[in-house]
Amino acid sequence: AKRYGRGTFRCFMPRMLDPLSGRVSLESRLRRALEQQQFHLHFQPQAQIAGMRLVGIEALIRWECPEFGLINPAQFIGVAEESGLIVPIGAWVLHAACQQMREWQRVGLPSFRIAVNVSLAQFRHGNLLDVVDEALESSGLNPHDLELEVTESLAMKENEYLVRTLAVLRERGVAVAIDDFGTGFSGLSQLQRFPVDRLKIDRSFTRNVAKSDEAATIVRSIIQLAHGLNLHAIAEGVETGEQAAALRDLGCDEIQGYWVAMPQDATETTRLLRSGSIF
Ligand code: C2E
Ligand code: CA
Ligand code: CA
Ligand code: CA
Repeated sequence: AKRYGRGTFRCFMPRMLDPLSGRVSLESRLRRALEQQQFHLHFQPQAQIAGMRLVGIEALIRWECPEFGLINPAQFIGVAEESGLIVPIGAWVLHAACQQMREWQRVGLPSFRIAVNVSLAQFRHGNLLDVVDEALESSGLNPHDLELEVTESLAMKENEYLVRTLAVLRERGVAVAIDDFGTGFSGLSQLQRFPVDRLKIDRSFTRNVAKSDEAATIVRSIIQLAHGLNLHAIAEGVETGEQAAALRDLGCDEIQGYWVAMPQDATETTRLLRSGSIF
């Protein structure tokens, strides 16, 4: 099953299909999904711990599949990456996220950034600089309102072009976060030359931060590392008030997770933002 990457698509594929044809079939379904606009975005708030102020929103892709219903990215991003389809899908995400963000600004909501996940293939084959430029230009969004999230494992591949592309983006004002930080066993020396603004502490550490000294020690170290390098630290996957309090005590800057808010579609997110109920 290795060749199917994250491969979990088999949970929703009809059983009688041979996995190989299943894969081809998933690819063509993804292609069709793109043409027929079956993708949409969910949004999850990111809050500054001090004052619980809304500082960002992460865009998370969803697939409304006519046959299988709402499908989470874990079930198709792997195949999208292997097939190269992540390039047009990722471009769609950037455009849609910038557009939505601009709409929120138009209705006068207080300012925050929009964070978008990007895959390696988008750097390598996807002309990411041009795609970002187009997305910003067509939406009218300021580059300072956009952040890109790259996973630590991707970030630490020693790709000169990756570093250069991120450096150019940052010169233009786009922020960069390292996602899932702490799981990629990065050489810390590489972090030194990596142009980023924010370390995103992986959920696996957040999960135990309030109940394990070891997890708390790791989280404290990541936060100190971030601050020592003049970066912000954000913890993902915060599900309880205990975790939020522990993170605050450890000096974490920002949190994201079900405890702050669930990811929701644009309509629900707009409702939440307008209600001002949590921020
Ligand atoms: P990620 O970037 O680490 O995103 C965080 C994931 O954790 C999201 O899952 C989110 O719904 C979930 N989550 C948020 N808060 C909590 C919490 O408190 N507890 C728990 N247990 N989970 C929480 P989702 O939306 O299913 O996305 C999964 C992954 O798919 C993302 O992980 C990201 O790597 C990838 N992904 C999502 N959207 C995109 C996209 O547009 N492009 C690319 N390339 N990848 C994407
Ligand atoms: Ca992310
Ligand atoms: Ca993450
Ligand atoms: Ca993670």
